[in-house]
Amino acid sequence: MTRRKFVAANWKMNGLRADLPEIEGIAAAAAAHDGVDVAVCVPFTLIEAAARVAPGLPIGAQDCHDADWGAHTGCVAAPMLVEAGARTVIVGHSERRGDQNETSQDAWGKAAAAHRHGLNVILCCGETEAERDAGRAERVVQAQIEKSVPDDAAARWFTLAYEPRWAIGTGRTPTLEEISSIHAIARAKLRQLVGDEARGIRILYGGSVTGANAGAILSAPDVDGALVGGASLTAAKFVPIIEAAA
Ligand code: PEP
Repeated sequence: MTRRKFVAANWKMNGLRADLPEIEGIAAAAAAHDGVDVAVCVPFTLIEAAARVAPGLPIGAQDCHDADWGAHTGCVAAPMLVEAGARTVIVGHSERRGDQNETSQDAWGKAAAAHRHGLNVILCCGETEAERDAGRAERVVQAQIEKSVPDDAAARWFTLAYEPRWAIGTGRTPTLEEISSIHAIARAKLRQLVGDEARGIRILYGGSVTGANAGAILSAPDVDGALVGGASLTAAKFVPIIEAAA
């Protein structure tokens, strides 16, 4: 089965209205490369403005609550994201697992809530450096997938992102063989959970992807795209990654 490449930007806690021209630049490149899917996940405060300046580009958020509304100070629910103009949301990112102590079970609830409201979901998994050094990377990723992937996950709305925590923002990446090997293991686990639908679900690699290494990473077996942090903050850095995927 052929899966369209998908390149998603994670702006993390970066981005003011002054940065909207970057979104417009990314949108123009995405429109010029219609063989690749592109999304940009911005801070909550920028969703509405980004969706307005780039109506053809899927704008996403970086988290949502698992409840639809209620007494959860400081949190944002999936229907609010939809109303603001988001079409997708990242859940289970390792920075939220680390900073906010989120668990795979939390990610499961968030993914389910997002799907209930028609959002696409990018669900992150990935081992720490200590877990990799202890030879536990595969088991950690399998367990995260088992606990966090909704059992109705389907290719049309669900994407998995493998992001080894030690590779995020560090300039270090696993070897291509290590990436492909975890992606193959992740797909086998998805198959156990959702059957044949797993063949169509895209698995992105994330962690220090740049214009310089994107070509090699995106051509590695079983890599269906990339989730990009630091190198997605400007069109000048992100467009070469879109081009590498096209
Ligand atoms: C990320 O935060 O999802 C990420 C992959 O970051 P970076 O590309 O900066 O490593």
